Amino acid sequence: MSWGGVQLGRIFGIPIRVDYSWGVIAALMTASFAAGFGQNYPYLGLASRLSLGLSACLLLFGSVLAHELAHAVVALRNGVGIKGITLFIFGGAAEMTQEPESAGAEFRIAIAGPLMSLFLAIWFWGIYLFARGTLPAPFMDVMTLLARMNLVLVAFNIIPGFPLDGGRVLRALLWGVWGQFGAATKVASGVGSLFGSMVIFIGLAWIFLLDNIVGGVWFVFIGLFLRHAARSSYQQLLIRTALRGVRARDLMVEDVSCVPPRMRLSTVVDEVMLPNGDTSVPVVEGGLLVGMLDFDSFRGLSRADLERMTADEVMSRELAVRAVDANDEATSVLPMLQKANTLVPVVSQGVLVGVLSRDEASRRLSTLLESPTP
Ligand SMILES: [Zn+2]
Repeated sequence: MSWGGVQLGRIFGIPIRVDYSWGVIAALMTASFAAGFGQNYPYLGLASRLSLGLSACLLLFGSVLAHELAHAVVALRNGVGIKGITLFIFGGAAEMTQEPESAGAEFRIAIAGPLMSLFLAIWFWGIYLFARGTLPAPFMDVMTLLARMNLVLVAFNIIPGFPLDGGRVLRALLWGVWGQFGAATKVASGVGSLFGSMVIFIGLAWIFLLDNIVGGVWFVFIGLFLRHAARSSYQQLLIRTALRGVRARDLMVEDVSCVPPRMRLSTVVDEVMLPNGDTSVPVVEGGLLVGMLDFDSFRGLSRADLERMTADEVMSRELAVRAVDANDEATSVLPMLQKANTLVPVVSQGVLVGVLSRDEASRRLSTLLESPTP
């Protein structure tokens, strides 16, 4: 769902990012708002219509951001870290670094967003009621539009299907009553998945019974998204539960061949890399990791270059900086390993203690997950 994006800045220290998909939606929304204002107020020029449409769009953007910031601030107050807020095609997401520790914390974090949207709906409606008759009618329309949009945000988010806010509230309640996080997540995700299926069904009914293809397709699309989100968030939870306590040191290869910085490249290739079949080699000085040699390091070098140059002249210091700590959780290391196409060095206080390779890590992982753990 993510196409990449840009970081706008930070609020309360939380990085705010906008997904490129949001730009597409923003353009469509501005255009359709502007067209609406044109119909209601034919005397408005194109520039006024567009600026009204754009202000409505930006205020909606601000509303979604406020909703996510409410989640984020309450999360931080409850000891849950926030990686950042991303605004994307279906609204926004405040990414938490871990699950809340208690049902109470989860409840407060989940309810904060919809409460903020409800507050904003009342606030925009309040401006409309107080300023009606004094300010221009198109401006009043923007206020009622924003009040309605924020109500839609409340309505959509209080649907009790995980991972929507309402689903998190449901999970927190079940968790509080049963005292079991896993079972509560299972039921809340099940409801989310069921709700997604219902939305798909409604969409299909629209398409075939009412001949409303555009509206119906939107419903089917949203339903599929909800179902996918519910299932994948439950699967992620299962994986995280299974991986609890597994650390980088459990997945790494300890017996690593490494080379000193002043070793001639021809020696590195002929005596270390080729005999061992290694595609990358850590460069170590006095036990400390100083760089990594990989395929890219040798790109464009001739045999004569290999005879002449040493490891420290071509090694990547950047790859060494990206080393993981032996105590890092597998859940944070594995996504990184998925992306890396070379070995990831593992250090403990700067000293190289092993390397992670994708193949070896997944082999060890399956052994760990098959063996019964206490
Ligand atoms: Zn929310």
